[in-house]
Amino acid sequence: MSNINIPILMYHSIESMPKTTVMRSLHVSPKRFQFQMWMLKILGYKGLSLRELKPYINGDKNGKVVGITFDDGYQNNLINAAPILKKYNFSATCYIVSKRIGTSNKWDLEKNITQRQLMSSSEIQKWLDLGMDIGAHTQTHADLTKIKYNIAFDEVKNCKNDLELFFSISIDDFCYPFGRFDKTTIELVKNAGFKSATTMNRGRVNIESNSLELPRVPVTHHTLPHLFLAKILTNYEDKRRP
Ligand SMILES: [Zn+2]
Repeated sequence: MSNINIPILMYHSIESMPKTTVMRSLHVSPKRFQFQMWMLKILGYKGLSLRELKPYINGDKNGKVVGITFDDGYQNNLINAAPILKKYNFSATCYIVSKRIGTSNKWDLEKNITQRQLMSSSEIQKWLDLGMDIGAHTQTHADLTKIKYNIAFDEVKNCKNDLELFFSISIDDFCYPFGRFDKTTIELVKNAGFKSATTMNRGRVNIESNSLELPRVPVTHHTLPHLFLAKILTNYEDKRRP
């Protein structure tokens, strides 16, 4: 069982949005999210945060598992997703932008992407109290491949420090903003002390995956039930590797 492929699902916002919304695909409706989690449950899967998933990736534990991740830390993750995750006894990792806590996804402004509220510190604490987990997504959602090494290192390391200080837990899991990374970025994430890093590269992970270059399975507004199943159960996503 150790050579199995494990999907790490990538979500952003869990909210119903009007048809005119720019990049509506980033929003999965609570109803659809509920259906997806229910489907995982009846198929015998357990949804796990990155912290809990790692032993399955490196072969120390066996079982039917999927990783569940949310990028950016939207308030609707707490309001709409957490109760559903809790209902099925699943956990998930939410990647937090430490200097944008309680504000909105300002980094998307120039692309005209709809602004959504990000969780405040007390809301992140509630997320944690529900048995969910958090990881780091830099201090300001910087494209790490476009800035100098020292600045990029501070973005990554200080985000870890911020979150560890605010919430008194270890922060071991990282997610590259905009899915942008290169050799140098991987090196600095390693030097900052992270144990895992997720990308926006598509595919499922297995024992051979580089822990600082983990591919994910995007779930969007367009992911209808049959496609969701194909993404989890087949090599549909693995074939989409560049
Ligand atoms: Zn992001």
